[in-house]
Amino acid sequence: MVRYVALLLFLTFPALLAIGQVQEYTLPPQLGGDTADPSLFLQQDSAQSAPQEIVPGIFKATGFGNTLLVKTEAGSVVIDTSMPSSAQAHRDVLSQVSPDAPKYIIVTHGHGDHTGGIRTWLGPDTKVIAQRNFEEFRAYQDMLRGFFNRRNAAQFGLDLPAGTPTPEAQADARPEKKLPLVLFDKDYDLTLGGLTFKLQHMPGETYDALTVWIPEKKAVFTGDLLYTSFPNIYTLRGTRPRWALDYVQSLEKVMALKADVLIPSHGDPIIGADNVAAMLKKHRDAIRYVHDATVAGMNEGKDVFTLMREIELPPELALPESYGKVAWSVRGIYEGYVGWFDGNPAHMYGVPPNAGYPELVELAGGADPVAVSAQRLLLQGKDVKALQLADAALMADPDNEGALRVRLTALQSLRAKSQNFNEAGWLHAGIRATRKRMQELEMDEAPSTQ
Ligand SMILES: [Zn+2]
Repeated sequence: MVRYVALLLFLTFPALLAIGQVQEYTLPPQLGGDTADPSLFLQQDSAQSAPQEIVPGIFKATGFGNTLLVKTEAGSVVIDTSMPSSAQAHRDVLSQVSPDAPKYIIVTHGHGDHTGGIRTWLGPDTKVIAQRNFEEFRAYQDMLRGFFNRRNAAQFGLDLPAGTPTPEAQADARPEKKLPLVLFDKDYDLTLGGLTFKLQHMPGETYDALTVWIPEKKAVFTGDLLYTSFPNIYTLRGTRPRWALDYVQSLEKVMALKADVLIPSHGDPIIGADNVAAMLKKHRDAIRYVHDATVAGMNEGKDVFTLMREIELPPELALPESYGKVAWSVRGIYEGYVGWFDGNPAHMYGVPPNAGYPELVELAGGADPVAVSAQRLLLQGKDVKALQLADAALMADPDNEGALRVRLTALQSLRAKSQNFNEAGWLHAGIRATRKRMQELEMDEAPSTQ
């Protein structure tokens, strides 16, 4: 069930924010090595026996995605509901402080690691509050579920058929199961039990994103607007453009609140006005830096790959790249602004740039010598080039054993060096596919000695 559910979700990284400081990121042990299964990562839920009280009256159940509960004298408000696989455990933990169904569920955006528990929490009178784009965003995800299921299966190491509607989508398709949604455009104020919940549309990772500010507690709930890593301004799974300047603007709006506590939906809260301000400013400045450098490079006539290699954050703005990566964001910004065409007439047609590889491999004497060259590149530490050359050899001869071995070794080498969850997931997918082919050919996995 966990594997099934996890496949269907759009997930974000559980940030490793310690209270008041940022911990250095290391890839979790279950993702170390080249054979570990990335899907294990999605199943991590703390064995939490009691809710964490962040500040008086605000409680957290911790998971890959957190569930947050604000208790008032007139009932509770739940903010984000984690993944379906975590929802019941979170409800059980938080029921210790608030056994009744919440008056309101606020969803910070329509990703499945935030909406997964909505139906677990719904009571007969519960209202679900979301930003106006929520429904359209969920329809977009459902429209492309065949595509996203395949991509999520690859990225998270899962084996599932594409095209299966999520349980939520199935429920949504039945009119009697429609969520009791309250939608708003820019702002929405709610009062309950002496507390004010000020919701603001804050696009960033998605265009339906919102934040919740409780002035009486000086607490802000930021969903996925920030986590410890540089943000996923582009995600490999596939996404509509995520606009860097939306992030900048949204972060500035949160900065203006001058919160004492910032509560993200992944990872731990940040406590203390100075810590909150410093974290927000660093993210804002880092994103703006990458955006501006990309735009400047585009105007200078530089191609996207050059900018992916060239643009780095200055040391004072460095953020871990454990979930998003600067290079992917550069490309996301570049192509977000101008789309896919690179100006080369050869690339206008439905013929991929590598279509000529088989002829080139033949001219080089066949797949064997090309695999030998790829192996040489591997020994020189040029893993990506080795991978590309192995792919060229395999285009000409899909069963070439030397090229398959080089491909496997290159992927393993890249995986061993990766400190990024999503990159590791895709390398894992490549390793699995290569191993499968090798097993079909009854090859052993010994590295090429050519
Ligand atoms: Zn998330």
